[in-house]
Amino acid sequence: MGDLTANFSRSEFMCKCNKCFNSNIDVELVDELQECRDDLNQKYKNVKCEVKSGIRCFAHNEATQRKNVPGYVAGSSKSQHMPDEDGVGHGADVQYTYETEDGEREIINPIEVHTWFDGRHSHSYGLGLYTNRNHIDNRRYRARWDKR
Ligand SMILES: [Zn+2]
Repeated sequence: MGDLTANFSRSEFMCKCNKCFNSNIDVELVDELQECRDDLNQKYKNVKCEVKSGIRCFAHNEATQRKNVPGYVAGSSKSQHMPDEDGVGHGADVQYTYETEDGEREIINPIEVHTWFDGRHSHSYGLGLYTNRNHIDNRRYRARWDKR
């Protein structure tokens, strides 16, 4: 049970700097992450979505860039993970998984997730493809990148 949607809780999106404790994620984005999870759950068994990175405050975003942590997009001056002027973050890095016949957890191909969001938000959203995860943000204009 989540406190934002059926499966997502605010704490999952909290900045990992351990100082700002900002977990103010845009609920519209979380609604879409939930909708995608629900759709994938029709096709795969016991789908879960792990938030790898949610809010990143300025200090934490700088730190992730220095460490070259996956998720940093070279050349992007302002990450959608960073809170806007109202303190709200609009981006998350997520990994959708399902349960195999053997009871193992497998990663759902990020292309499938990417395609799902692209189909619903063809003129907006920032969608980044990575080997084992997706970046998804609900910016008002279209941005796409492939870092696999
Ligand atoms: Zn922080």
